[in-house]
Amino acid sequence: MDSARDLVIVGGGPVGASLALALAGSGLDVEMVEARATVGASSDERTLAISYGTRLIFERLGIWDALGVPTPIETIHVSQRGGFGRSLIDARDFDLPALGYVLRYARLQRALGEALAGCRDIRVSQGVQVDGVHATAQGAAITCRQDERSRVIPARLLVIADGGTRLAEQAGAKIRSRDYAQEAVVGVVATSSPHAARAFERFTPEGPVALLPFEERYALIWTAAPAAAEGLLALSDARFLAALQAHFGDRAGRFLSTGARARFPLSLRYASESVLLRTVLLGNAAQALHPIAGQGLNLGLRDAWDLARTIRECGGTDPGAESCLAGYRNARRFDRAGGIAVTDSLVRIFSNDAAPLRVLRGGALAMLDVLPAAKRAFVQRMVFGGSL
Ligand SMILES: Cc1cc2nc3c(=O)[nH]c(=O)nc-3n(C[C@H](O)[C@H](O)[C@H](O)COP(=O)(O)OP(=O)(O)OC[C@H]3O[C@@H](n4cnc5c(N)ncnc54)[C@H](O)[C@@H]3O)c2cc1C
Repeated sequence: MDSARDLVIVGGGPVGASLALALAGSGLDVEMVEARATVGASSDERTLAISYGTRLIFERLGIWDALGVPTPIETIHVSQRGGFGRSLIDARDFDLPALGYVLRYARLQRALGEALAGCRDIRVSQGVQVDGVHATAQGAAITCRQDERSRVIPARLLVIADGGTRLAEQAGAKIRSRDYAQEAVVGVVATSSPHAARAFERFTPEGPVALLPFEERYALIWTAAPAAAEGLLALSDARFLAALQAHFGDRAGRFLSTGARARFPLSLRYASESVLLRTVLLGNAAQALHPIAGQGLNLGLRDAWDLARTIRECGGTDPGAESCLAGYRNARRFDRAGGIAVTDSLVRIFSNDAAPLRVLRGGALAMLDVLPAAKRAFVQRMVFGGSL
């Protein structure tokens, strides 16, 4: 058995790796355990919209410059198909350089992997699969495996950031879920009109479609019922572009070409409590959200940042002690519950074709445009998260 670490992080995805980086120089004995052979290498095709608030976290972590120049989102055009009402959100109205930025998941992973490679005080174990977790009031431990060799690593605090539910359930989490019966078809598309840093969010009864400015093109997130998504993936490029044009309309110009496409199942899944006995669930392991509002990663990173701050503030005391974790639980409860509720409500209200709801939605979108206070509150929540 290895000696007890202060903290073991299971999973070196964007959230687990950000937490590890935020704890560099804390004086704590931290080990991050990642199943992939290299933390910085990822073949994930998805693009991510990160908020301006997340940019501030990346700057503090010292990785912002390593992300190259993520494409800014300066305005967002929100509309619904087959109904009146639209809203335009402009970063300049809120004195922000951008509402958010778009970058590839793989690029973010690379920047995090490189930054961690330069941290001498954070142990990074790669190519190590965690099979089990265990916690008591006295301490926690993981069981893991590398090249058929088994290891047990004890820890005072365990952070589960593996993106799934199996280990969270082993740690005692109660998982709630809602199947939206939707999948996301993602890819990169080129249009006849330049994007001018504008994103589009268009609600349709089959689910939302988002176009995010990404380099010279748009990143597309097209939600549809699973059978329809499968059909969209099977179409030739020309037929896919024609279907997109018919579905989205022409406000972004003509769709000219598409890159490789992939699909992801969408659901809401969250643990009713993210702080358990000597264990914290973080990122998708705590809550996996529909990408409708691009909130999943942003919420996970705010959690990671605040957890690192709380642990540092506990000084040399046991980071897994209830007295230390209580502050984190209280600080994050409101933002977490709000992020889950706002995303879930948007999916359910905007993926419904009932005529009265269509009128209400149109009214809400129009109101957002004429009530600056409502718009400011909405943008504040989306960009910086919720606070009491
Ligand atoms: C189509 C799509 C679009 C999205 N768009 C956005 C967006 O625009 N903005 C946004 O904020 N969010 C978005 N999200 C959500 C975002 O991708 C997630 O919130 C984010 O990836 C969560 O990061 P994570 O580190 O918690 O988990 P993951 O990214 O799942 O990483 C988990 C890590 O744990 C490792 N791991 C897993 N099991 C084990 C094990 N047993 N042992 C050791 N290691 C293990 C994995 O290899 C991986 O590296 C989107 C999601 C989807 C599906």
